[in-house]
Amino acid sequence: MSLDITTLTIQTAHEGLVSGAFTSVELAEACLAQIKEKDADINAFREVFDDVIEQAKEADRRIKSKEGINPLLGIPFSIKDNILIKGRTAGASSKILENYVAPYDATVITKLKEKGVVFIGRVNMDEFAMGGSTENSAYGVTKNPINPETVSGGSSGGSAASVAMHGALASLGSDTGGSIRQPAAFCEVVGLKPTYGAVSRHGLMAMGSSLDVIGPLTKTVEDTKIVFDAIKGKDEYDSTSHDGLDTTSPVQTKTIGVIKGLIDQGGIDSGVKERFEAQIKKLKDKGYEVKEIAMPHLHYSLATYYVIMPAEVSSNMSRFDGMKYGVRVEGKKLLDDYLSSRGAGLGKEVKRRIMLGTYVLSSGYYDAYYGKANKVRDLLKQDFEKAFKEVDAILTPTAPTPAFKIGEKANDPLSLYLEDIFTVTANLVGIPAINVPTNVQIMAPYNREDVLFVIGKDVENLR
Ligand code: GLN
Repeated sequence: MSLDITTLTIQTAHEGLVSGAFTSVELAEACLAQIKEKDADINAFREVFDDVIEQAKEADRRIKSKEGINPLLGIPFSIKDNILIKGRTAGASSKILENYVAPYDATVITKLKEKGVVFIGRVNMDEFAMGGSTENSAYGVTKNPINPETVSGGSSGGSAASVAMHGALASLGSDTGGSIRQPAAFCEVVGLKPTYGAVSRHGLMAMGSSLDVIGPLTKTVEDTKIVFDAIKGKDEYDSTSHDGLDTTSPVQTKTIGVIKGLIDQGGIDSGVKERFEAQIKKLKDKGYEVKEIAMPHLHYSLATYYVIMPAEVSSNMSRFDGMKYGVRVEGKKLLDDYLSSRGAGLGKEVKRRIMLGTYVLSSGYYDAYYGKANKVRDLLKQDFEKAFKEVDAILTPTAPTPAFKIGEKANDPLSLYLEDIFTVTANLVGIPAINVPTNVQIMAPYNREDVLFVIGKDVENLR
């Protein structure tokens, strides 16, 4: 087997490593060469680590001495800039965290370190994960490697682009309302938002704590499964984490649901619609039963998300006050310190959401907005519970449009929020969802990632 990084996957790279066809150092060098060639233009990486070769040498030593051989040993990863790696800078692509050094490892990082992965670098994102194009990064947009005139999506745009440009074989991103799946769709890679709590959030910078989850972006469904298996599980540092299903319960993947009226509504790109319908037809031809299902509350999803998410954002962001971390701009008195530090350190979109969130939580408005949104969230959960009695999985496009031009939506936050129309629901409900190229989202019941992998592989093969 030769080392062509543009065609290797985690699975095939692992075969190459254990058979001695190539080394982890050579694999890492191949990624570094791609980054050197492309990243000045693409801007996926916030930082390429200076000890990549040492990490790869250690992996090679383990492979040679057959120490803890596993599918991820020696595999190059990129990590979103909001996940802590001890001793390395973690900035959430925000000015306010410039030069912040992580004091501990996120649980997912501890797990990956045990597996012996090679951390190539940290990757760009929308500031504090707020956005869908990486244009909200304080360090410039990440271009889409497939068509550099377009955005890579977001907020995990750096993660998706780093895999699509072969700068890493896998990446970790975070998903609060679509931030793994939508950039995966735009960059034509696989991206999984696991069940809420299936992966520990310890060491992930919080955005919307009842919505956030860490997950993998890779080139294939099988690779995503490999990474998910490595990072999942209950963690004493995250009380919302859990062990998921016992793996002996049988996987049902016969019947797939499509939501009545969903892709016929306005604002869905006609090409997206056509491709999606063609995919569904192929699945039908393969033997899947396709059922139309009703989701009476689905059209409230986006509005519900854009109340609950900013509410949680406004509370999570209060820790960035110029005292404990990052940028500090002194004022005349304490309140001025806060105002000037946050004023200088935070970007426009982050401020917009803090204001929105503070408003929906303020006295007199709490019940009308936040309280009501939570009730709708419950109704959405009921819609899905009902639907999953009839179908094993639900399919939608991941994004309503293909990757759009850089700058096209940058000054129109509402049109950017509309990009999240298909993805936010899984976060509100807590269920797992995956993007499989090109632009197919599959949603399954709680803890049924296994359903996503089975159907996902079929979608992948029918492409
Ligand atoms: N694009 C969505 C937003 O702007 C999702 C963000 C995310 O999942 N972190 O909120």
